[in-house]
Amino acid sequence: NGSIRVNMANVDSPLQIFVRAKKKINDIFVEIDDYVKDAVTFMHAVTGDNGIATPQDLTNVEAYVSKVQAIREVLKRDHMKVAFFGRTSNGKSTVINAMLHDKILPSGIGHTTNCFLQVEGSDTDEAFLRTEGSEEKLNVQSVSQLGHALSASRLQEFSLVHVYWPRELCALLRDDVVLVDSPGVDVTPNLDEWIDKYCLDADVFVLVANAESTLMVTEKNFFHKVSTKISQPNIFILNNRWDASASEPEYLDQVRSQHANRCVDFLSRELRVCTPKEAEERIFFISAKEALLTRMREREKPVSSPILADGHQVRYFEFVDFERKFEECISQSAVRTKFAQHSRRGKNIAGDVMAALEHVYNTATDQKTAKVEKQRILHEQLSAIEEQLTTITRQMKDKINKMVESVEHKVSLTLSQ
Ligand code: GDP
Repeated sequence: NGSIRVNMANVDSPLQIFVRAKKKINDIFVEIDDYVKDAVTFMHAVTGDNGIATPQDLTNVEAYVSKVQAIREVLKRDHMKVAFFGRTSNGKSTVINAMLHDKILPSGIGHTTNCFLQVEGSDTDEAFLRTEGSEEKLNVQSVSQLGHALSASRLQEFSLVHVYWPRELCALLRDDVVLVDSPGVDVTPNLDEWIDKYCLDADVFVLVANAESTLMVTEKNFFHKVSTKISQPNIFILNNRWDASASEPEYLDQVRSQHANRCVDFLSRELRVCTPKEAEERIFFISAKEALLTRMREREKPVSSPILADGHQVRYFEFVDFERKFEECISQSAVRTKFAQHSRRGKNIAGDVMAALEHVYNTATDQKTAKVEKQRILHEQLSAIEEQLTTITRQMKDKINKMVESVEHKVSLTLSQ
């Protein structure tokens, strides 16, 4: 279908921190799985007639098999999640498309949806939609089809729609990044519900703001709520539509520093999620529209409006810079939050199984000591009996000898008479 496959191994991407850690922890859990299963086989062998382990010991160890299985299932599905927020038409869908190097989500006027769209990798070659709580797959081949499917299926407001896109086509999806597009923060009063339902496990939040205006109260409010529910959320601010600045180059620096100062202030002093210095590394001035166009051209996809405004290269570099910092942040954060608890649990399971085996070992040792002791006592008793027997036989022998002697004496007396 003309799409270029992303076959190159993206080895120097910071996302590899997560990808490698995920592989490693999955491998470790394969080993833990083997270890627990071996322990169960062993327990089976020592439970029952010979009575070293009790049926309860066996059940306890067996319970770890399903626990390890459950963790392995979660680990296989673990991913990095980024959620995009901002007012309607600020360019959230366009930013996501630019990051995916393709027009995947419908964008533009008339395509506003009132649901959350979660784009994630599909292991097959097909692209399809699935609504939350339903197993039905809706095949989609293009953006227009996707837009159509979204408006045609009677979706509940603010529900979650999964968009599965072939992993092979996008580096981010292949490296287990999941991207969530949201309805504009200006269209709902239910911010709390949104956060609880879709954001608690997000590793990074991206606020897509409009560089043509200042941050709005609704946008700020949303992140105030986020920071009450999640400790130290990772927030990036994209001042999108920065291409508009090209028409007024004389104000460019002034406008930029004004926006930047306000954003730094918002992240560091208002939300207190980072220091002013860190905040400076989280704020970018970009044009998602231009970035998407540039990438569509690179992939030799047909695009309209070939002329880009002055300074588009600088804006594109800033977009690439954002992606790099974003990748570093999301992979480190996801490793910390997703894998730390699993590795703790893995360690505990291995420890518990070892304790159970040690318990059986100790029981076996106790039984052996008891047996040896029994044998020793038995041995002593036997020796005593043996001694008694020897004494008795000696006494009998003496008696018999004496009897024989007296008989002989009597016989010889009789004979000599
Ligand atoms: P969303 O509602 O936040 O998802 O916004 P969309 O991504 O649908 O974008 C709304 C409109 O703004 C679309 O027509 C986009 O083409 C346009 N747009 C998005 N990013 C930019 C940009 O950086 N510059 C300009 N000039 N237009 C943009």
